[in-house]
Amino acid sequence: MQIPLLRLQCGVNSYDWGKVGQESAAARYAATTAASDFTIEAEKPYAELWMGTHPSLPSKDVETQRTLLDMVQDNQALLSTEVSERYGSRLPFLFKVLSIRKALSIQAHPNKKLAEQLHARDPRNYPDDNHKPEMTIAITPFEGLCGFRPLAEITHFLQAIEPLRKLVGQQAANDFEQIVKGNEESEDEDVMQRNKDALRTIFTSLMESAPENIEAASNELVALAENSPASFGTLPGDVETNPANPRQLAEIITRLNGQFPHDLGLFVFFFLNFITLEPGEAMFLKADDIHAYVSGDIIECMASSDNVVRAGFTPKFKDISTLTQMLTYSYAPIEEQKLRPKDYPFTVLNATAYSSGSSSLLYDPPIEEFSVVKTDLNRTGAKATFDGIVGPSILICTRGSGSITVGHKTEEVKEGYVFFIGADAECVIQNTGSGEGEDDVFTTYKAFCELTGKEDMVNGH
Ligand SMILES: [Zn+2]
Repeated sequence: MQIPLLRLQCGVNSYDWGKVGQESAAARYAATTAASDFTIEAEKPYAELWMGTHPSLPSKDVETQRTLLDMVQDNQALLSTEVSERYGSRLPFLFKVLSIRKALSIQAHPNKKLAEQLHARDPRNYPDDNHKPEMTIAITPFEGLCGFRPLAEITHFLQAIEPLRKLVGQQAANDFEQIVKGNEESEDEDVMQRNKDALRTIFTSLMESAPENIEAASNELVALAENSPASFGTLPGDVETNPANPRQLAEIITRLNGQFPHDLGLFVFFFLNFITLEPGEAMFLKADDIHAYVSGDIIECMASSDNVVRAGFTPKFKDISTLTQMLTYSYAPIEEQKLRPKDYPFTVLNATAYSSGSSSLLYDPPIEEFSVVKTDLNRTGAKATFDGIVGPSILICTRGSGSITVGHKTEEVKEGYVFFIGADAECVIQNTGSGEGEDDVFTTYKAFCELTGKEDMVNGH
């Protein structure tokens, strides 16, 4: 039988928000294994590298030039019977590298039930009837918006930023403040429900603002950001905003307005958590979580689906009423949006790996379609052996150089190389770098699906 290790050729999309030319990690990675007619153009944006079987941009086996989709359909043992019975003859997940220069649309992904309804009603804008949980791991410093800010922060902005208050309306702002005042931190369920209802009301009123009002308010907002950034700040002893520095807040508003002039998203910003991730830090987006990516290079893993409900920072179809109805309106500090990795017990490290502080960390969101293991092998000779699992994997190298071995097949690995590893195959990776200095780390991310029977707590219910 053929050894289940395939080097993949992966395509890169050229959306307008992508980083340009060599700046784009997605483009550089794609170029390492590209078709012969691919060269990185200096002025062109490159947004997303796609690794998987999605028919819109399917990865290919380098050796035979067959699509991975074709190969797993032909040989379902590559996926495992369990996975192919449950998800059909394709990968349950789509693995990507995103290189973000300009904000992506403010969006949320429907849960399974809503996805079915939207798809039945409007199949053109909602092409799938599936949910789309997403996980993001930063490869370079990342900025994004995710979930609603703690209520005290929202109240602060409503009071400090006059154009925001005008846009939502004086009455709506007063009503909101009256309900949440003194109850911002309450953990009483009835109180929290009242807070969420109040948040839904004021947020919906913002989202339904008339275009001419948005334009007038955004002119005022940008003038404030440019001329008196201090007005974005809080007084000593008052609530801390995120970011805490008013100049930084004002800078983000100015930058976003440069990307999307007069966009409603400029005001949505004051309702959502601003989140920054350092390389290796992650966040998981549950169904119905509002979010937007602002900048950075990231690894993204998602269930294989294309359902997005958008409302701002986008020229695409917007569906504000669906968005405002579907959100959960949970509000929490950003620390609660992050997904902390834990040690992955199914990797064995050799002595060199141990002594150099190498690690294999598992990012395990509460869904069954995917998990990701990040492995750092810190010195030449450091080696990690992954147990075979009952499901498929895709591995990408983001740093350093090494080798990958399955059975008696060994392949060289460099930054940007992507491999498919079939079900049940034990896989060994090794750092083969020059061994000089601290820059010799060999880093890989391995996305996989293994059906362990863990409940689909978040999205399925
Ligand atoms: Zn998303």
